[in-house]
Amino acid sequence: MSVVQDHEDCQVFLHPSQVQTLWGQVCVRLKADLGEAVFTSWIEPLKVIVYDGRCLQLSAPSRFMKDRIQTQYGEKVFDLCQEIFPNFEDYTVAIKAMSKDVEPASEHTRVDPFQNQVIDTITELDEEDYTAALDVRFTFENFVIGKPNELAYAASLRIAEAETPPFNPMFLYGGVGLGKTHLMHAIAWHIKKVHPKKKVIYVSAEKFMYEFVRALRFKDTVSFKERFRNIDILMIDDVQFISGKDTTQEEFFHTFNALIDNNHQVIISADKSPSDLEGMEERLRSRLGWGLVADIHPTTYELRLGILQTKAEALKVVVPMDVLELLASRITSNIRELEGALNRIVAHSTLVGRKIDIDTTHDVLRDLLRSNDRRAITIEDIQQKVCDYYNVKISDLLSTRRMQVITKPRQIAMYLSKILTPKSLPEIGRRFGGRDHTTVMHSVKRVEELCANDREYSNDVEVLRRSLIL
Ligand code: ADP
Ligand code: MG
Repeated sequence: MSVVQDHEDCQVFLHPSQVQTLWGQVCVRLKADLGEAVFTSWIEPLKVIVYDGRCLQLSAPSRFMKDRIQTQYGEKVFDLCQEIFPNFEDYTVAIKAMSKDVEPASEHTRVDPFQNQVIDTITELDEEDYTAALDVRFTFENFVIGKPNELAYAASLRIAEAETPPFNPMFLYGGVGLGKTHLMHAIAWHIKKVHPKKKVIYVSAEKFMYEFVRALRFKDTVSFKERFRNIDILMIDDVQFISGKDTTQEEFFHTFNALIDNNHQVIISADKSPSDLEGMEERLRSRLGWGLVADIHPTTYELRLGILQTKAEALKVVVPMDVLELLASRITSNIRELEGALNRIVAHSTLVGRKIDIDTTHDVLRDLLRSNDRRAITIEDIQQKVCDYYNVKISDLLSTRRMQVITKPRQIAMYLSKILTPKSLPEIGRRFGGRDHTTVMHSVKRVEELCANDREYSNDVEVLRRSLIL
C-alpha cells in the first residue's frame, strides 16, 4: 500500500487566507523596522507559497534578491515570523520568476485566489515519502470509543477491513479536535496491515486543491487525474476548504464520481454535515451525502475521562484520579486541548521534579482552566438555577425524596456541578444533602445517557448549562 499525507500533521492548521494575514502582519512590522524604501525593494517582492504548520515557504524573483534578503534581513524575518506564526520553526526562500505568478496559466485559475500560492517547489505527492508522515499514534488501538464517536469508529473499522466498499462514500463530520483525522489515519494504518496491496491516498482538501491548481498551471491535468483516480481508497480531509473554489469543486466532483462508479472507496471529512456545507455546489453536496454519513458528537465527561486515562497510560505516568477528573470536567472544548493540558502537566512535573496533584495542575493550567471557565460557578448557583427552572424547592432538591419531579432536577444539578465546577464527586455529594459519591457518579452517567437519547431532555440541560456559563 502507499499512503499520501500532507504536511499538516495535525499540528496547527492554517487556511491560506490566514497565512496571508499573518505574513501581512510580519510585513507591517518589517516596514516599520526597515523603512519604506528598503521594504519596497527587498521585502515586498517576497511572496508566500505555503505554511505547513512549521515551515514557511517564500519565493523571491531572483537569486540575487534571495541571497540579499537572507544575508541582510534574514534574522529579522526569522524573528518576526517566530513571533507571529504559531509553531514556526524555519522559513525557506525559493526562486521564482514573478511574471509567471501574475499571469494565470489557464483561464480556469483566474478566479482562484490560491493560485499565487502554488508553484513548482511544492512537493510531488511522493507516495513512499508520505507513508512515514502518517501519525503513528493515530491508530484504532489508540482510539477511545464512547457514545459520541461509536458510529464513526465502527464505520471506519468496517471500511478498513472490507474487501469492497461497504458504503460509499463515507462522510465523517464533527467539530474541531474530535477525532476525524485520527480515524482517517487509523483506516490507512489498518489497511496497510490487512490489505497491503491496496493503494491509499490520504490528503487534505487544501493539498488536493494545491495539486489541482498546480496541474492546471502546468497543463498537466491528465496525470493529475490519473494519479487520483487510479487508487483504491481516497481520503480527503477537511473538505469544507473546497467550498467556493469552483474549478476545484468541479474536478473534485469528477474524481469522486469516477472513483465511486468504479467501486473504489472514498472517505471524506468535514466540520459540517453535507447539507450544511456552504459554498458547495448542490449536486456535490447531495452526492456527498449518498453513502454513510457518520457524525462525531461533542465529547461527554465519561469519554474525556477515558481518553485521559488512556493517554496517561501511554505516557507511562501516574496521574491521580482527581487530576484527571478535574481536566475532564473543565476542559470540554475538544480532545486536542484536553491532550495538550495533560501533556503540559506531565512535562512540567518531569522538568521540575514535582509530583502531579491538584495544586500543581491549577498552577500549570491556570490560563487554560480560566478560558474554559470564565467565571467560577458555584454549586449554589447551579442548584438555584435548576430549582427555578423546574419550579422545585432547594430543600426538596437536597432531601431524600424520590419522586420523579424532584429526582430529575436533582440529577441534572449534580451533573452540572460536575461539569461546571472543579468540585470532586464526594464534595458534590456532600453539598447535595450528604449523598455518597457513587450517587453523584450515577447521576452524571444517567444525565449523559438521557442527553444522548432524548432530544428534549438534552435541550433542557443545554439551556441550563448556557444560562450558567453566560
Ligand atoms: P479533528 O481531525 O476532528 O480536528 P483529530 O483527529 O486531529 O481531530 O484529533 C485531535 C486529537 O485528539 C488527536 O491527537 C487525536 O489523537 C485525539 N483524539 C480524538 N479523538 C480521540 C479518541 N476517541 N481517542 C483518543 N484520542 C482521540
Ligand atoms: Mg483534522
